Amino acid sequence: MKRIAVINQKGGVGKTTTTVNLGAALAHQGFRVLLLDMDPQANLTVHVDKRPDLEGNTMTNLFVEDASLEQLVQTTVSPNLSVVPSDTSLAGVEQVLANRIGRETILREALAAFAGASSFDFALFDCPPSLGVLSANALVAADYVLIPMQAEYLSLQGMAKLLEVVQLVQKRLNPALKIACVLPCMVDGRTNLSSEVLREIDAHFGPLLAKTRIRNNVKLAEAPSFGRTIFEHAPESNGARDYQMFAAEFLAMIGDGASSAGTTAAATNGEGVAGDDAAPPPMAAEGDGS
Ligand code: ATP
Ligand code: MG
Repeated sequence: MKRIAVINQKGGVGKTTTTVNLGAALAHQGFRVLLLDMDPQANLTVHVDKRPDLEGNTMTNLFVEDASLEQLVQTTVSPNLSVVPSDTSLAGVEQVLANRIGRETILREALAAFAGASSFDFALFDCPPSLGVLSANALVAADYVLIPMQAEYLSLQGMAKLLEVVQLVQKRLNPALKIACVLPCMVDGRTNLSSEVLREIDAHFGPLLAKTRIRNNVKLAEAPSFGRTIFEHAPESNGARDYQMFAAEFLAMIGDGASSAGTTAAATNGEGVAGDDAAPPPMAAEGDGS
């Protein structure tokens, strides 16, 4: 199972939209995908048509009561797509775990003990817009970091902090963690602002910048209110096309390790790009059964 943390501490940049629709695009291709809602706002939970008030059945139970993932995973209306829901009680986890030793490794341990893990090809963590204990758990449990970024003024603000946290996690808790890419979201091809910002992101991230652009698309914004992914809500929309294209790019990126995947956070600080030696094993689709 490949684990991907979808993270950016900036709010409203497209994390949840990307987690749901990248997950759905992979599920449509036949991969078995588990979405984990790490955000007390529970937007992902609602997006896949689950109620965010399922007492005793959410991510909170994993962090506070050591519930197993077996108890928390639910199927969704989409084939191949399952979810661990969240609810507002997850906001209390930060405080509950404040003095607990090893609080950053809870999710990783839960995934390691998850007997059903082998039946999933991908786990995608939808992180909250903060760099607290929930995001730390996602980074510690992940193989890859995916950073959605809105193509707007000030979008690079806070990036240094995020990369610093990723580097710290790489150094102390999860040396195998790699940044997969930065994904521009809500791109408006008609404005100079978007292209100016994209040039700036390109100058900053170079090879880490994904080639796919997720365009502004009202269907993507509508889909959550129907509890549907973009592929059920508007399969012919630009939103569906863009996420399908990104899924293909993402698979190539993490499948052969020869593209920008395998790059460490240090690379973005001018210390060079890591080589292929950190390449992951072949994809499940190629028959490794993971
Ligand atoms: P938060 O930090 O609050 O968790 P987020 O980073 O998860 O936010 P989203 O919830 O995915 O961001 O997106 C923010 C808003 O923008 C939502 O209303 C979403 O429907 C909308 N949105 C996301 N991507 C697009 C897009 N490509 N085109 C149009 N609307 C979009
Ligand atoms: Mg979100």
